[in-house]
Amino acid sequence: MTGVAVVTGASSGIGEATARRLAEDGFEVVVAARRIDRLRRLAGEIGGRAVELDVTDAASVRDFAAGFDRCDLLVNNAGGALGAEPVALSDPAEWERMFAVNVLGTLRVTQALLPLLRAGAGGTIVTVTSTAAAANYEGGGGYSAAKHAEHAFSETLRLELCGQPVRVIEILPGMVRTEEFALNRFAGDAERAAAVYADVDRPLTAGDVAACVSLAVGLPPHVNIDQLVVRPLAQAAQHKVHRGALFHH
Ligand code: NDP
Repeated sequence: MTGVAVVTGASSGIGEATARRLAEDGFEVVVAARRIDRLRRLAGEIGGRAVELDVTDAASVRDFAAGFDRCDLLVNNAGGALGAEPVALSDPAEWERMFAVNVLGTLRVTQALLPLLRAGAGGTIVTVTSTAAAANYEGGGGYSAAKHAEHAFSETLRLELCGQPVRVIEILPGMVRTEEFALNRFAGDAERAAAVYADVDRPLTAGDVAACVSLAVGLPPHVNIDQLVVRPLAQAAQHKVHRGALFHH
């Protein structure tokens, strides 16, 4: 499929890589996030359009959606984690923020673009959740709760849209090494962020996840991948990470 694709959280990491990949696939890509300078640079490189968007702000989402007369693909990618404290010590404000961006942001943007996604020849909604949408781990309570909620959103929407030509796809990545995800999680603590990936032989890259989005979207319009779980080979499960050489270099 081709047409107009919207990628939220496209100013870095998985969103940026997905925007690049979809442009290569022939989409006219609209890149959205808060940091407009980065978006403008990216849009210039891929021949797309940059639009400032804060998914936690209802007015921003309303204004954003008003700028479209067509949308064939929405990639709900904006999101992230804050903190890794145990439930007993975690900060409710961080849980609120994670719900605001991951869950309510995805809800708002989807609601705003749904009329256009339904109007065309066939629309697709891809939501990037996480393996944390399907499993919990110590210190991941708030993030897992938000990603589980995003999963519930995606599954419910698929049920509700049954009978309409709109695919609803959820991508659940495991460990992906992006520049900002772990840094944001640990409030800029680079050492703690680096420890997440320490000695892991080839965590996923943003490009790997973008390739999964491209694969799911590129299948014929009657093929709906409900959930695509993708992990690096070194991570067999949330708690099962091999640290040490894996590939012959
Ligand atoms: P990044 O931190 O690199 O990207 C997050 C993106 O979300 C940024 O472009 C940021 O842009 C945007 N964003 C944050 N808040 C808002 C907001 N209020 N409004 C609009 N955009 C916003 O992380 P990743 O690329 O690693 O993660 C992308 C997605 O993948 C997230 O949903 C994350 O939870 C998920 N994921 C990541 C994994 C990983 O290991 N890295 C694993 C599994 C899932 P800006 O600040 O400019 O607004």
